[in-house]
Amino acid sequence: MRNLIVANWKMNPSSQKEAEEIFNGIKSGAEGVSSEVVICPPALYLPLLKGMLLGAQNVFWEEKGAFTGEISAEMLKDLGVEYVIIGHSERRKYFGETDEIVNKKIKKALEVGLKVIFCIGETAEERNAGKKSEVLERQIAAGLAEIRNPKFEIRNLAIAYEPVWAIGTGNNCSVEETKESLEFIRKIVGDCRVLYGGSVKSENSGDYIKIAGANGLLVGGASLNAEEFVKIIKSAE
Ligand code: PEP
Repeated sequence: MRNLIVANWKMNPSSQKEAEEIFNGIKSGAEGVSSEVVICPPALYLPLLKGMLLGAQNVFWEEKGAFTGEISAEMLKDLGVEYVIIGHSERRKYFGETDEIVNKKIKKALEVGLKVIFCIGETAEERNAGKKSEVLERQIAAGLAEIRNPKFEIRNLAIAYEPVWAIGTGNNCSVEETKESLEFIRKIVGDCRVLYGGSVKSENSGDYIKIAGANGLLVGGASLNAEEFVKIIKSAE
């Protein structure tokens, strides 16, 4: 199983020129690495960036029609996009995405042949209340409801464990705790890639792969710096 290293640029950078510069820096630095490296820029930059695997940060579950502002799985596929991030905590928090919405999106994306990076993770409050396992179990069960069906390519699914309190805070989850959580998730989902995400940087990235046993990383802030992101990619080799 190849490692999967994913860059989530979120709503950055502010111009096409900067997007191309970061992308080209990553492309040349990551040449020949063994991991699958996927860049997920804002959707409008997707057609500009060529020569690496691309992912979207969101998708809608209907094929077409009166859904202002939305982008379908078919449109992404037609553009040559291979991956999509679904269920990111920022979408759950700011855009009201429920487990049921996440499930609809995952089903549609898998049906169309996109590879899904399904994000799960507990908030600080849930963790402090001792509810981490319960939350992860609920997110997995609801997000993957009806997915174990021949209609869906389950091998196209990766799960990203992203403790919400670790995202964008500089407060990454310890390698020991991550290892336990990844093992817990694997027991529920079985054979699929399980990634870690949450304040990953080049100083800690290799440990998540080599000690915690992650099959890859989902990287936000640090993926906007080509040099730093290339270091992260290389730490997984
Ligand atoms: C993310 O956006 O999924 C993420 C993990 O962000 P950061 O690496 O900045 O914590």
